[in-house]
Amino acid sequence: MQSITLLGATGSIGESTLDVIARHPDKYSVFALTGHQQLEKLALQCQRFQPQFTVVNDAKSAAQLQIMLAANNTKTEVLYGTEALCQVASAAQVDGVMAAIVGAAGLVPTMAAVKAGKKILLANKESLVMAGGLFMDAVKASGSELLPIDSEHNAIFQCLPANYEQAETNGISKLLLSASGGPFRGWSAEQMAVVTPDQACAHPNWSMGRKISVDSASLMNKGLELIEACWLFAVTPSQIEVVVHPQSVIHSLVQYVDGSVLAQLGNPDMRTPIAYGLAWPDRMDAGVAELDLFDIARLDFERADLVNFPCLQLASDAAAAGGDAPAILNAANEIAVQAFLDGRIGFTQIAEVVDNTLSGLELGEPDSLDAVQESDKKARSHSAAYITGIES
Ligand code: NDP
Ligand code: MG
Repeated sequence: MQSITLLGATGSIGESTLDVIARHPDKYSVFALTGHQQLEKLALQCQRFQPQFTVVNDAKSAAQLQIMLAANNTKTEVLYGTEALCQVASAAQVDGVMAAIVGAAGLVPTMAAVKAGKKILLANKESLVMAGGLFMDAVKASGSELLPIDSEHNAIFQCLPANYEQAETNGISKLLLSASGGPFRGWSAEQMAVVTPDQACAHPNWSMGRKISVDSASLMNKGLELIEACWLFAVTPSQIEVVVHPQSVIHSLVQYVDGSVLAQLGNPDMRTPIAYGLAWPDRMDAGVAELDLFDIARLDFERADLVNFPCLQLASDAAAAGGDAPAILNAANEIAVQAFLDGRIGFTQIAEVVDNTLSGLELGEPDSLDAVQESDKKARSHSAAYITGIES
């Protein structure tokens, strides 16, 4: 029986994880569930899964949740704040942690789980983007098992040899990172300038939270994933090629020096990588329908359009620049995406905000989590000020 803490239980990945866990009550129990604004959903999850602890962000939410839990007779203890998130991520009773908080808020609790040597199911790509070097060093030092949940990285992980150390010594020439192209594939910048948040969030293949949906539409998500892949698999941006594949059936590929290319295929359903991460190195039922190749009939591939989707190039440049450039990119993007969702800026201005923030700040080499958070803060205030300046 494995005891699991779920950071970000009320989100899209959180719900899919609970769906998989519920199919295997003999294998997994829930130690803690955390949420932020969706308190009613969190209360229902606690009632159903009976975790020992639940964590929210502040005292007021904790008091509200406490009343909801008492009303449905749930004994789960309510905690709040970042320190409590770290406690439930690192507690001695916990075997595995699903890191599924969205954005920079996931960094500190995920790192707490890493430092405690837990098995990490990593959905929160932003923590690797912000602090990849520190993160991977901590994984090595604590002996954590790090299992990528992001579907592309999970696919690559599945296609790598079990003894994988680095591309060169394992006969790998390239990682091919799949991208659906998002809802605006083939669109011009002029067309995208006037899209609404709901259009940007209407992903053709995947159902996800709003932040990652906007990132998928701008291809910033692919940029963040490129940085994520560099850290996870010890490669440089030049060893990764983005392949736009609109059907989202091939989740990514690994090209070997002998001409072989291995790919992982499946229906676009996050329960597959989640079940893989939970059961690794075994396999178990994820509740996902079998892939029907005859129904799919054809698979298409094209190059990414870096001119109309500048976010991918910005991320690739930030990866090459290193230091705190990726953390700055990530922070500026979070602020810009929120401003777009709030109707304050246009979709194509997201890239403009990120570009202006990266070129307006001096880059540093953060050597601690505090230093990373300092870069994050600096980038947030720069981009917020820039948005106020351009707001229409
Ligand atoms: P959602 O927006 O659906 O869920 C985010 C979760 O984080 C919710 O539980 C939310 O709580 C919680 N949360 C939000 N802000 C904070 C905060 N400041 N402090 C603490 N908790 C917070 O996101 P997704 O599930 O889509 O994505 C989660 C992560 O997984 C992201 O990093 C994303 O990039 C990654 N990912 C997601 C994929 C997907 O298919 N959805 C695919 C690959 C990666 P509440 O809702 O209660 O406010
Ligand atoms: Mg992905």
